[in-house]
Amino acid sequence: MSALEIRQFPCLSDNYGFLIHDPDSGETVVIDTPDAKTIEAEAAAAGWTITQIWNTHHHWDHAGGNSELKAATKAHVVAPKADQNRIDSVDQWVQDGDTVMLGQHRADVYFTPGHTLGHVCYHFPDQKIAFVGDTLFALGCGRLFEGSPQQMWDSLSRLMDWPDETTIYCAHEYTQSNAAFALSVDPDNRDLQAYAAQVEAERARGEPTVPTTIGAEKAANPFLRAADPALRARLGLETAADADVFAEIRRRKDNF
Ligand code: ZN
Ligand code: FE
Repeated sequence: MSALEIRQFPCLSDNYGFLIHDPDSGETVVIDTPDAKTIEAEAAAAGWTITQIWNTHHHWDHAGGNSELKAATKAHVVAPKADQNRIDSVDQWVQDGDTVMLGQHRADVYFTPGHTLGHVCYHFPDQKIAFVGDTLFALGCGRLFEGSPQQMWDSLSRLMDWPDETTIYCAHEYTQSNAAFALSVDPDNRDLQAYAAQVEAERARGEPTVPTTIGAEKAANPFLRAADPALRARLGLETAADADVFAEIRRRKDNF
């Protein structure tokens, strides 16, 4: 089996679009549909034909281009079952534990409520890559528009079980502002300091900070570090439950 080929490109103001191509079958999936025109142009530039659309959640900057892109490509559309009344042009509804195929490559569907109540992520274990939408960001996580802190903590905890070298494709370029917040709550974290310096350099060169890896995020992303003694001590939450520490970090970020 050949490795999957990934093409990442900016969409709208700060979204990323992702095309995943399987050279063996010739299939191509697009993760979310922030902007149908941009996605079609990228596929054409690569010489790839879009055969599938996989949505992570119902927000317009993730599913808003479904009908236009499906009309143009006849692609098979996969979306989370919990968003059944909120995403259009869908052929297949998926839930936690389901699998979807790109040629012979299997992606596992992870239900990760928190940012919304229907959010899912797609993980290709054989390629060690995952598409996490607005659940996990580089040095951040999605805002809790619909879910509770406990739900989001449980969702993020499941992503932390993936191997450290797993490559994480997040849906937005928010890393620079996330880094500023992360340093405000965890200023003595050497891994975070190094990561933040790297982000500054990449953005100064106009380069993306996505993708990241689970290992890098576990070391530096405060939203994955609710169990860390130094971070807890700084927040004065030494004895709180992990989800309550996470909730406090999320609350501070919302007000940062
Ligand atoms: Zn969203
Ligand atoms: Fe989004």
